[in-house]
Amino acid sequence: QRRDPDQSEFQEAVFTVLDSLAPVLEAHPEYIKANLLSRLVEPERAIQFRVPWQDDEGQFHVNRGFRVQFNSAIGPYKGGLRLHPTVNLSVVKFLGFEQILKNSLTGLPIGGAKGGSDFDPKGKSDSEVMRFCQSFMTELQRHIGPDLDVPAGDIGVGGREIGYLFGAYKRLRGYQNGVLTGKGLTFGGSLARTEATGYGLLYYTNALVKAQGDTLTGKRIKISGSGNVATYAVQKATELGAKVITVSDSNGYIYDPKGIDYKVVQQIKEVERGRIKEYADRVASAEYHGGSVWDFDVDYDIALPCATQNEINKDQAKLIVKDGVKYICEGANMPSYPDAIAVYQDSNILYGPAKAANAGGVAVSALEMSQNSERLSWSFETVDNRLQDIMEDIFEKSEAADKKYQLDKNYQAGANIAGFEKVATAMMAQGLI
Ligand code: NDP
Repeated sequence: QRRDPDQSEFQEAVFTVLDSLAPVLEAHPEYIKANLLSRLVEPERAIQFRVPWQDDEGQFHVNRGFRVQFNSAIGPYKGGLRLHPTVNLSVVKFLGFEQILKNSLTGLPIGGAKGGSDFDPKGKSDSEVMRFCQSFMTELQRHIGPDLDVPAGDIGVGGREIGYLFGAYKRLRGYQNGVLTGKGLTFGGSLARTEATGYGLLYYTNALVKAQGDTLTGKRIKISGSGNVATYAVQKATELGAKVITVSDSNGYIYDPKGIDYKVVQQIKEVERGRIKEYADRVASAEYHGGSVWDFDVDYDIALPCATQNEINKDQAKLIVKDGVKYICEGANMPSYPDAIAVYQDSNILYGPAKAANAGGVAVSALEMSQNSERLSWSFETVDNRLQDIMEDIFEKSEAADKKYQLDKNYQAGANIAGFEKVATAMMAQGLI
């Protein structure tokens, strides 16, 4: 707090993790002696840079670019790039910090990082987005590489942006297809990467629900967001027999008691780059309302926030409890304020935190790196099966840590502990890093 007084998102992420590590520290006094936590919360490197670009009318603009390389104890830095006006150092550090433990939980050899810019791709032409990406990569290329740091997508960065970023990197440094993940399928991308975070969220949720002797079949699910994660969460939830009744964006939400059709969302958002409001013009049973989907009072069973950080406050969490929700699993990063999490934990709701529940995206990104190294492409089924195994394994690891430290189904603490133990062991073995 003393060092970063204005970094509220970063502090929130750090305190939430540190709170749950107490039992591990008690069991490992050597971690305290080695000042391990102070090292863990300090990024190995934080890069900030100017990104000048020109719009279609010839006007000049400047945005701020970031890459925070947080921890490479278990592998090269890995984490997405976010393009959104709310991006600042605090947001990038919170995401990078979370990424360390998330990547560790996947069981794959990847360290933690995150980056992005306060550039807003909304309403920009393809050429403007391309010029921005080229300018951004002009600096970023100095800091990344297939064995060093491998960025991917996040909010505002999908296939189009990764393509432009990759093209820019290639002009500057030559063809190295392992330098970015989320690439197009014609130049080293992995099948199932687009679907991975949404599918993975449902594989994790399914494992959590099954462990309680329950099933997803017939469950009513509220999903927020209508971007990459939300769209494929809707698809997989429906395939697994549940009914998704909402999707949203930052202006409002759609309620469809008959069940959201992911293909309509995909058409509006991915193909037409439109707003979710348009869903109600195309589907007769759907209604559009302004405001937050978390203020909408309706009975349902499972909440899957898939939009952004801090989208659920304490009062909204109380409404979630009142509406009869049994499970909440996070597709977005840190969507719940700490006092909202406290509300879940004081109720009977079982809570699957982001770093476990949404790790599917980075897991398949790491599988994309493996395919790039092999110069082979795996089938959709192969990648999807591995994703499913990884997500079930993440739930099992979190559950095992929960049991070991007698946390009473606190899967948040379980995930933090399981992710931390591997990174801590690696850091201790590598000396003063
Ligand atoms: P997208 O940009 O594809 O979609 C983001 C969605 O969230 C949009 O519907 C957007 O609406 C909505 N949203 C953004 N900001 C706000 C806000 N302030 N209030 C309400 N809604 C908002 O991003 P992704 O789907 O890729 O990412 C969603 C979340 O999942 C993020 O937290 C991201 O970090 C996390 N995540 C993503 C992964 C991935 O593989 N893509 C991997 C792991 C985590 P609007 O269009 O109005 O802004």
